[in-house]
Amino acid sequence: MKFGGTSLANAVRIRNAARVVRQFSSVNNIVVVASAMGEVTDWLVEIGDLAQKGEAGKIRKRLQEVQNFHLKTAKSVAGRRKTRELLTMINQLNSELERTVEGITHLRELTQRSRDYLLSFGERLSTPILTSALRNLGLRARALTGAEAGITTDDNFGEAKPLVEVTYHQIHQRLGQALNRKEIPVVAGFMAATVDGSITTLGRGGSDYTASLLGAALGADEIWIWTDVDGLMTADPRIAKDAQVLSHVSFGEALELSYFGAKMMHPRALQPAAQRKIPVRIKNSSKPSKNGTLVSAKESDNGGRVVKAVSIIRDVGIVTVGGTGMMGAPGAAAKIFQTLGSNNVNVMMISQGSSEATISCVVAKRDVDRSVRALQLALLGQGYIERISNEKDTSVIAVVGSGMKGTPGVAARVFGAVAKKKVNIRMVAQGSSEYNISFAVSEKDGPKAVRAIHEEFKLNG
Ligand code: ADP
Ligand code: ASP
Ligand code: MG
Repeated sequence: MKFGGTSLANAVRIRNAARVVRQFSSVNNIVVVASAMGEVTDWLVEIGDLAQKGEAGKIRKRLQEVQNFHLKTAKSVAGRRKTRELLTMINQLNSELERTVEGITHLRELTQRSRDYLLSFGERLSTPILTSALRNLGLRARALTGAEAGITTDDNFGEAKPLVEVTYHQIHQRLGQALNRKEIPVVAGFMAATVDGSITTLGRGGSDYTASLLGAALGADEIWIWTDVDGLMTADPRIAKDAQVLSHVSFGEALELSYFGAKMMHPRALQPAAQRKIPVRIKNSSKPSKNGTLVSAKESDNGGRVVKAVSIIRDVGIVTVGGTGMMGAPGAAAKIFQTLGSNNVNVMMISQGSSEATISCVVAKRDVDRSVRALQLALLGQGYIERISNEKDTSVIAVVGSGMKGTPGVAARVFGAVAKKKVNIRMVAQGSSEYNISFAVSEKDGPKAVRAIHEEFKLNG
């Protein structure tokens, strides 16, 4: 069971999460995964940026807010018993956090590595607090960091990848033992460590990934993701007010939704579960008796409807490489992707112009400048590439549903609906999956495009 930041936003929510675990623990062996409380990871990101700029005054204030927030929550969760162990732990972590921020401020240098170390405090602080809440209910719970639970990654800081074999082996061994002792392991999500012990993170939203890895390694019956909505919905409910909960989606569909729904789930989160065919349930921690969404290997019939949901990914940009010499030049595309790949840029979407010789790639906004520089260095001056341009204010819209590609007319309806709202489409994906059609629009048009598709395919009921 993984509890998202929204389900651990304050002492009341944390006590609620603990009750949810207790409710299901009488008949199940449970492993718990904790996210950082509320928006703490965002706060730490901000502190890191301020530290890099050396803004000492602002940092002190923000840092104290984070420290007090956890201390206050810990005191409240511990209740009258005021378990000294918990408060000592939180105080220790708080001073370690302070030293980390001081270090970054002094050097004015925030590497991916030190950033991971800084961000890991969110989960390192929330995990012992949730553990304490579980103990207060009489459960035998024990807090573990991601590394202690067995997750070992490569050193791609910021977006580290688990070394699957060693990770599965370690998880199986360590958590298996804890479960045999009838303990409930409470694992800090999102964070792990390299072989030599440096702290890494799995990328934003990575607690889902932690849960999926642990579930797969242990051969869990199910993986439950507790959040603040009733399940996976036909669209982000903050954009389409009449969005509906989907009772069942296949791994293929969920993967597309989560990949493009950025906020809802970590893009790779479902991979380990999908590989081992372990069903994933997404449920509302405020309404635990509701069924939520079941994600499983079964292809669900959607009452004959091909489009199931529409999703948006923000903070992306388009990098376009163009030049007449590219036409018919074998290997041009390979060179582009090789260059981006070796610079650790993740390409989310590709499209190739046919009349004009261009290749466009959608990448994360933070990677745009780096991509352009890398491509300039690698490609310009060799004859076939003339220009490399970029746009940063972009959103990608993904229309998801199994069997969509095989059904004629869906694309026409998608683009027709968007055009009717006078939204300009900047790029269309050369999709390979049969589960989605995706396209890029300007950032400001994103929500409008989502609503247009939600309406067109009557996803509201
Ligand atoms: P957590 O803290 O539990 O990880 P997140 O904030 O990461 O929660 O994700 C939950 C939020 O994702 C919801 O509150 C909702 O606003 C948003 N969201 C975006 N797209 C969807 C969707 N298709 N279905 C459900 N929620 C969505
Ligand atoms: N706390 C991390 C984040 O906000 C991981 C997670 O919540 O899943 O990205
Ligand atoms: Mg999340």
